Amino acid sequence: MKSYRKELLFNTKTRRAFINITPQVEAALRESGIKEGLCLVNAMHITASVFINDNESGLHRDFERWLEKLAPEKPYDQYDHNGYEDNADAHLKRSVMGREVVVAVTDGRLDFGTWEQIFYGEFDGMRNKRVLVKIIGE
Ligand code: ZN
Repeated sequence: MKSYRKELLFNTKTRRAFINITPQVEAALRESGIKEGLCLVNAMHITASVFINDNESGLHRDFERWLEKLAPEKPYDQYDHNGYEDNADAHLKRSVMGREVVVAVTDGRLDFGTWEQIFYGEFDGMRNKRVLVKIIGE
């Protein structure tokens, strides 16, 4: 069995952002040389997500509005976690959107459903963040 590991780096210009990372994961898969197996992609931070959904900008604005209703960023003092930090909303948003995805690797390709794409969801950006890609198989 082969094993491949890579970290993707992010530093968004805004506090929140959704980034389609499918091309970077596909590049990692090519580098791995693995044809059959599993590809794990996970955020390495507790204020960011990796999730699979549609690459449609209206939907991404809907996610942003929905998450802001569930866990508004402000006022900061509405959260017990805030004090030294101001990112309680980011922890909550990340929990809703998830930590990781696993995609089957078939014939050297990510075995997606029709509209599936992989996204990085940043909820406390403007600093260095990492995403782990781990691919196992043969
Ligand atoms: Zn925090």
